Amino acid sequence: MHLTILGFQSPYPGPSGATPGYLIQTDTTNLLLDCGSGVLAQLTRYLPVYDLDALLLSHYHHDHVADVGVLQYGLMVHQLFGQRDKDRPLPIYAPAEPAEKAAELVYREATRFYPIEEGSTREIGDMRLSFLRTDHGDGDPCYAMKIESQGKSIVYGADSGPGTQWDGFAKGTDLFICEGTYLERNRPATPNGHLSVKQAAEWAEKLQCRSLLITHLFYQYEEEEVRREASVFKSGACHIAKIGLRLEV
Ligand SMILES: [Zn+2]
Ligand SMILES: [Zn+2]
Repeated sequence: MHLTILGFQSPYPGPSGATPGYLIQTDTTNLLLDCGSGVLAQLTRYLPVYDLDALLLSHYHHDHVADVGVLQYGLMVHQLFGQRDKDRPLPIYAPAEPAEKAAELVYREATRFYPIEEGSTREIGDMRLSFLRTDHGDGDPCYAMKIESQGKSIVYGADSGPGTQWDGFAKGTDLFICEGTYLERNRPATPNGHLSVKQAAEWAEKLQCRSLLITHLFYQYEEEEVRREASVFKSGACHIAKIGLRLEV
């Protein structure tokens, strides 16, 4: 699988930046994970928007869904131009709650909504997906996703506080994409549905992940400081998210 980081910042994008969005590709399948602010502009560097096979949304917080509306407009126009078949709306897999947010994922002939839930699996092209509900606080569900293809696996942790039960889901994964929202100096005294960089690295080490990508970072955080706090991860390569970074799994 080929991973391209289209956006990783939170809660808002810095200059020329973007909030979370990850393109995962095999030779036959193009999958977009989350669709934050600025993600569509980045996507156009790598893939015509009409060649997407599916979009997966972990949850409905703005930093993960801000560009869904313009994606729907884009697909509608590509259908008008004859570049995408009107009989081929883009499937969007996302939580069923809140229901009013899920309803917005059905738009003309451009997009259709399919619910995801814990314990369910989905086949998309040559990828197999499964889901885990994370500890993300405010009552509405947020799902981590495991993507498996050709004997490899990527776990995208979405937004996830320290109460997430990773053990059976992420253990030994080839790449753990894990949020590290805070440097230790900014970490809130009471957990608020997010991990620090250090906590993310501790989890990845405990789970013996083969590699780690720290993401969901404030745009002003310096890579060196993030890398220092992630140094407790020793089981494999540690990557710090950057727009345009491409990894092979
Ligand atoms: Zn969130
Ligand atoms: Zn977020």
